[in-house]
Amino acid sequence: MSTLIIKNLYAEVDGKEILKGVDLEISGGQTHAIMGPNGTGKSTLASVIMGHPRYTVTKGTITLDGEDVLEMEVDERARAGLFLGMQHPAEVPGVTNSDFIKTAMNSRLEEGKSVNLFKFIRQLDKAVEDLRMNDDLPHRYLNEGFSGGEKKRNEVLQMKMLSPKIAILDEIDSGLDIDALKVVGENVTNMKSEDLGLLLITHYQRLLDYISADKVHVMMKGRIVKSGGMEIIKRIDSEGYDWIKQEVGIDDVRVIEEEEEARVMLGQCATREALDL
Ligand code: ADP
Ligand code: MG
Repeated sequence: MSTLIIKNLYAEVDGKEILKGVDLEISGGQTHAIMGPNGTGKSTLASVIMGHPRYTVTKGTITLDGEDVLEMEVDERARAGLFLGMQHPAEVPGVTNSDFIKTAMNSRLEEGKSVNLFKFIRQLDKAVEDLRMNDDLPHRYLNEGFSGGEKKRNEVLQMKMLSPKIAILDEIDSGLDIDALKVVGENVTNMKSEDLGLLLITHYQRLLDYISADKVHVMMKGRIVKSGGMEIIKRIDSEGYDWIKQEVGIDDVRVIEEEEEARVMLGQCATREALDL
């Protein structure tokens, strides 16, 4: 059983502070959910845990079973057992889905060892069937031309194949119709075990109808402002977030306010133009 501990985490992007003191502890066998309106820092937290180079941690710690995660490169984090199912998975033309997964699995083994090809294919076929994906998806370029729902299922496919110790699924429900949501929910639920700690990020309560959570956290303004059980979700579902905003005395839940957000975006466009991207 593994434990991920995040303490007083602060992080910034382009000099803007996005995470403002996040505390969270996830162990194998547990499922945590982070909810919260858009722009409150949920995906940023996921990216920072995985080590996305755009984000700078300015304060706080992240450890996995006592090891300093912030000291690890992205690939080391993956090898240590961290996994992120992304909100917006990138398209990688030229690399097939199946090759991508195989490479990721091999990189977790000792130098010189590789996965048994026969077993790999059998496992992949089974996972594709379990997720009711199209047979051709493993052989197509990673995420290229995948529908929104296919991309999401594909993140879960990777998770099934990689058996992480701690898995973060960021808005895995967005873009899924109700049937697909059911399939994804069943598959994730079947993966639950003492060896897996799950963090589900979502802003819809409906995901949690399919994957139950032991603990629910609400994120606003770059930190977790409330934690509790499923009762929080029920109340958010019927009343929205206003009661929590009132409870913690927050007006605008976003980390960056609208005007500022526009300036950051303009800054990015200007940078892109300057770099001729
Ligand atoms: P959520 O997932 O809760 O919707 P995010 O973590 O995606 O929120 O974003 C929180 C804030 O941080 C937003 O204002 C967003 O624009 C900003 N932000 C996140 N990542 C970046 C980035 N790479 N560049 C600029 N701003 C970013
Ligand atoms: Mg997000």
